[in-house]
Amino acid sequence: MDKLVITLTCLFLAGVHGRPNVVEFTQPEPQCGYRSCPATDPTMLNVHLVPHTHDDVGWLKTVDQYFYGSRNDIQHAGVQYILDSVIPELLSDPSKRFIYVEIAFFARWWREQDGIMKENVMKLVNEGRLEFVLGGWCMNDEASTHYNAMIDQHTLGFSFLEQEFGGCGRPRVGWQIDPFGHSREQASMFAQFGFDGLFFGRLDYQDKDTRLKQNNMEFVWRGSPKNLGETSELFTGVLYNHYVPPPGFCFDEFCKDAPIMDDERMNDVNIQSRVQDFIKVVKDQAQHFHSNNIMMTMGSDFQYENAHTWYKNLDKLIKYVNQQQSNGSNINLLYSTPSCYLFNLNHLNQVWNSTKDDFFPYASRENTFWSGYFSSRAALKGYARKSNNLLQVCKQLDVLANLSSPVSFATENLRIFKEALGVVQHHDGISGTEKQHVADDYAQRLAVGAEKCQQVASAAFEKLLPKGSEKAPKQVYCTLTNISYCNFTEHQKQFMMTVYNPLGHTVTDFVRIPVLAEWYRVVDPKGLNVTAQMVPISDETKKIPERNGSIAMNELVFMVEVPPLGYSTYFIIEASHQEEATSQPSQIVPLSSDELEIPLYIDNDQYLVLLDNIKGNTMGFTNKKKNISIPLHQGFWWYEAYGGNCSKGEFQASGAYALRTKGGRQLVPDTTMKLGSYILTGELVQEAHMIFGPEASEVIRLYNNKPYVEIEWTVGPINIKDKLGKEFITLYDTQSMETGSLFYTDANGREILERRRDHRNTWNFNNTEPVAGNYYPVNSRIFIQDKTNNQQLTVMTDRSEGGSSLESGTLELLVHRRLLYDDHFGVGEPLNETGADGQGLVVRGKHLVILDTIEDSPSLHRSLALQMYMAPSLSFSQLTMTPEQAMSKYNTQWSGLKKSLPANVHMLTLEQWSTTSSIEPIEIPQILIRFEHIYEKDEDPVLSQPAVVDLTDFTTFRIVTMQEFTLGANFPLAELNRLPWRYIPDNKEESLSKEKLLNTAIPHSSVPTTLSLQPMQIRTFVATLQRLL
Ligand SMILES: [Zn+2]
Repeated sequence: MDKLVITLTCLFLAGVHGRPNVVEFTQPEPQCGYRSCPATDPTMLNVHLVPHTHDDVGWLKTVDQYFYGSRNDIQHAGVQYILDSVIPELLSDPSKRFIYVEIAFFARWWREQDGIMKENVMKLVNEGRLEFVLGGWCMNDEASTHYNAMIDQHTLGFSFLEQEFGGCGRPRVGWQIDPFGHSREQASMFAQFGFDGLFFGRLDYQDKDTRLKQNNMEFVWRGSPKNLGETSELFTGVLYNHYVPPPGFCFDEFCKDAPIMDDERMNDVNIQSRVQDFIKVVKDQAQHFHSNNIMMTMGSDFQYENAHTWYKNLDKLIKYVNQQQSNGSNINLLYSTPSCYLFNLNHLNQVWNSTKDDFFPYASRENTFWSGYFSSRAALKGYARKSNNLLQVCKQLDVLANLSSPVSFATENLRIFKEALGVVQHHDGISGTEKQHVADDYAQRLAVGAEKCQQVASAAFEKLLPKGSEKAPKQVYCTLTNISYCNFTEHQKQFMMTVYNPLGHTVTDFVRIPVLAEWYRVVDPKGLNVTAQMVPISDETKKIPERNGSIAMNELVFMVEVPPLGYSTYFIIEASHQEEATSQPSQIVPLSSDELEIPLYIDNDQYLVLLDNIKGNTMGFTNKKKNISIPLHQGFWWYEAYGGNCSKGEFQASGAYALRTKGGRQLVPDTTMKLGSYILTGELVQEAHMIFGPEASEVIRLYNNKPYVEIEWTVGPINIKDKLGKEFITLYDTQSMETGSLFYTDANGREILERRRDHRNTWNFNNTEPVAGNYYPVNSRIFIQDKTNNQQLTVMTDRSEGGSSLESGTLELLVHRRLLYDDHFGVGEPLNETGADGQGLVVRGKHLVILDTIEDSPSLHRSLALQMYMAPSLSFSQLTMTPEQAMSKYNTQWSGLKKSLPANVHMLTLEQWSTTSSIEPIEIPQILIRFEHIYEKDEDPVLSQPAVVDLTDFTTFRIVTMQEFTLGANFPLAELNRLPWRYIPDNKEESLSKEKLLNTAIPHSSVPTTLSLQPMQIRTFVATLQRLL
């Protein structure tokens, strides 16, 4: 065993950077990375054959079913057998190569291997024969994912590879071969991970045709041309055959193509025709590419379960095609990897084309736009966003309260939640394109992870709350407050509420606590009374089947103020009568009454919202402070979803992936406003409860001092008794703003991209689907601008949704879908979510609407986006004493920072960090910390300026040393040397000069006290700490 440990140690260390306290052994240098690439012949057309398997981390089966190969009645697929089968093939022949991608699967397999197998696999990795590409926990979706979760899921995969394989495990290329459209922000991230290139498989069929004709399949993608420059540029290649082998040459045991039959004595010998056919596909492909290197993807979904059938035939193909060289052929086949192909291209020192666009929406044929999945499974999308919020809270509390030093239950609990979020980001996960039982499995993983995370948060409060020896009360969490359900608060006469704020800025927020009684006294962390407003729970909320069991009658609404990375504890005590209470009732005026004088509007000091007394829609918005007033018709409509058997393009159905609408939008309702709508006014919040019939309702809210209008929408169950699938949208129709064909959407919650209706920048776009062809992913915001009148209407979303502006002055968002047909892309089920009672899922979400000037809007949407995805987290506990006694025993207000971060800076990550391998444990506590500038250049005269962060402001630790890493935290930034690529800018006015970020990477052992950030820059550090707690 000792001998093995020494060998393993050496292999681990090779290529590992920044690991202290190690003894170097003289062992052969590992030949991984570009040094291990197979030789090519510059006089030949080199064909890089890339054996690969595409293993979905959940789709038709759950991630565990795929791993073990259970439920093969649904789909034959067992990932464990793939790795079991590939490794011996690689070991038997040094020329063979294989790439592996999805670390969620690889980590499962690795845990089950014995020492000898691990040693063998490490040898293959160190020799570049088994190469990890992409290296994320999954191959994430790019349309519905949020950047925070994307970075986290890659960091999780990278850290596994770093810990188990050191430098040779570090991926060099992105491999997004299956996602249905590609985000520019993803390209920017990959560049910042240190990747040298990216390959993807799917792009719009018209775009692909154009690129094939123009030999423009490979180019430099400029991920952040305005802000990050060269740091975000990425060489990108579109795969020729999607990600499958050329037609006729699939050698998987489940493929039907003929094997290579090469015994001349047999009747069925086919070697000559097979060789000629292959030479033809090589030539066909090569004419669309620039160089004497081309790449062929030899594999597909869940292939290589019997790797021998692939390799045996590829061996023969290589042998016989290369034999033709003696007859004058210039074709040279070799086993290779994407990074080795890329390395050969880089050596050409060619000047490439470039693009600044993204690749949304993806159309695979005339009537098939894959823009439905931007909104599919709206509840899962919302749940994933909320779960990410909670994960960040728990990771921060773990660090701030020092729970994991060196390793504790917190590390293990957070691992479970991180892995759950990691698999959910998959391109058949959060995208909503999986079977229902798989979606249920994802949701269950998130629920289990959330519970584990809450245990970590509780442990942190146990440490942070007590002033002396008094034990902190047990914390209880309520995850259903969005539907006004909290079993704990509904059954307590008095309780404490602790609000944790994961932002580096002090926040004020309004909380809504489900309660039973009518009068309450609310006391703040300093013992002062807090004004509260009692808001009755609406009938619409009470109808939601998932609330079954709730007895709450009211919501207690009040404002909380919470310090940065800190908490505030409030006391809520039932009062026997009004005089004892700080809560005030709301006044309710039903809209269905005949009192004609009722002013049909709600307002506060910020906004006035005018309502339509016939249809129930909003009629106008006024921003009182800016004196901007516009007509605004907002309400719900639906498109009929196209039904069809998909046998031809014209029969394409709307489904989990595709959006296809039939006819124009239809108003909900088509008659007068339904009974039950009302206006509610009070001390803190003004609400209009609008009911549009059994399928849709909303609450328009104006909270005191909040610079937005909140629209909480509730859609479902969507009626399908008429045998029609429906796409429910909410439309914001200003009828006055002149916005032309332009609108703006965010990319994964970060940079803003300009969209032009019925237009693509890179090809002559003929839009055959007027709705679907104009839909784009909206991860956090969509807006339109009237430049003449200096008005901007911005809608912030609490989850990813598809959105568009189909006419000047309008915005629309697809909030919920219920469909009756499968769209024939494999999932085999119509997207028909039926919910807890089987009647049809009810989905509730929020839009925050801002009407402001163009120049003042960025500061609002940037800070609001942060507050939405990093919302305060609530926990509750029993109160068995007076607030005064509690204040003497507990720290009722606490902050992890001495002062707020600058307004343009976000602390994106704070988590315990271990670069520990199982062999070389490190005792020193480390953290992973990321800071981010949340503005783009020129968005705001003040906030778009470079920012400076004070690193000495943490209250529970002092940073002793820190080292800057790539965005994925797996390589020291100062040592990063990406392959250089020359390109032609796609905009003639831009010069070829490449802008570099001014900050120099912070090397190992530095102890800076401040840190600077350029617009949109994210900086990643591993730091060692001195604990002050
Ligand atoms: Zn896939």
